[in-house]
Amino acid sequence: LMSPSHGRESADLNLQALHECLTAPIYSEAGQVSVGASIGWVVRGTAIMGVSEIFHAADVAMRRAKVEHLGVVEFDPVVDSAALASSAIELALRQALPAGRIRAALQPIISVSDGKIVSLELLARWPGSGFPRDPAPNDFIPIAERLGLLNDMLWSTLSEALPVVAGTNSCLAINVSPSQLTSRLFLAKLSAIIARHHVPPQRIELEITEQVAFRNVTENCAVLDEARRLGFRVVLDDFGSGYSSLAILDRLPLDKIKLDRAFVAELKERAVTQKIMQATVSLAHDLGIVCSVEGIECAETAALVASFGCDQMQGYWIGMPELVTAPACLLERAS
Ligand code: C2E
Ligand code: CA
Ligand code: CA
Repeated sequence: LMSPSHGRESADLNLQALHECLTAPIYSEAGQVSVGASIGWVVRGTAIMGVSEIFHAADVAMRRAKVEHLGVVEFDPVVDSAALASSAIELALRQALPAGRIRAALQPIISVSDGKIVSLELLARWPGSGFPRDPAPNDFIPIAERLGLLNDMLWSTLSEALPVVAGTNSCLAINVSPSQLTSRLFLAKLSAIIARHHVPPQRIELEITEQVAFRNVTENCAVLDEARRLGFRVVLDDFGSGYSSLAILDRLPLDKIKLDRAFVAELKERAVTQKIMQATVSLAHDLGIVCSVEGIECAETAALVASFGCDQMQGYWIGMPELVTAPACLLERAS
């Protein structure tokens, strides 16, 4: 802590001197030892800043110093605001997850031929987060992944969703990131949890993204082959959104592809998009792969997609993701 009477410049000079002391090489009998250090600091602003906020901001600045090898960094509200928000989410997430406050929502996927629900997609939600707007999965999933918490989150939301799914004939689609797929004992743990709820692997769909095909392909394919051997179904999510070539259909062992909703957004207006979708459906069918389309937001798109021979549909027009409200006795904590 430094008194404001020091002024910004003198604070900076003091910290630079401290950094120099810390990083001065140490000479010993074993040789020279170089020590790295990163310092983040913040000036308490006019807006009231509590002690924890001050530490938090300094910590964010320190992390920027570390990543960018800057040595000493002062917190900058403009540059560091995104990191500050994400670090606030990180702090809250570390508490919310073990407390069971990350909840399961389910969104229906229907069969185009008869309109019946064939599958339910498991999506994470964080109601009552305490933030002005509850963080969306796109805000907290990457953080959970960085913290290595995605599996814990999956086991927890799964144990909420499985009792609901067990009482239906539908499949349960779960989103699996590449890091989860190759985490130790992933398939064994998943198998144990679904067995506890008497849901066979044939009713579980693993939704993976094209990322799986970009790195460690051999290792990832081996896990996917093993998953299919155990009876799980493998679905390629967000197909047509990224950089994947058609070769991905050959490279990965797949049961189903899900055409990305960005694709669908342009469908009504663009004849070319319609042609691409038609050709993709036909290609998938030739390869024996089921074709699903997500992001269906109106009757018109649904009719178009149906006319192209797609097998399954998902989207707000068909059904919104809804929080699972299982009786408390069914909400067993994940182990
Ligand atoms: P996703 O796998 O592509 O999931 C579908 C997303 O589209 C969901 O967003 C869903 O709410 C949204 N959606 C569904 N129908 C429509 C529609 O008609 N129009 C539009 N505009 N959107 C629609 P959400 O729940 O915000 O999830 C975003 C992404 O976060 C998911 O994309 C998925 O990749 C990831 N995610 C969500 N929950 C989990 C989870 O529990 N684990 C993991 N690993 N990832 C998750
Ligand atoms: Ca998905
Ligand atoms: Ca998707």
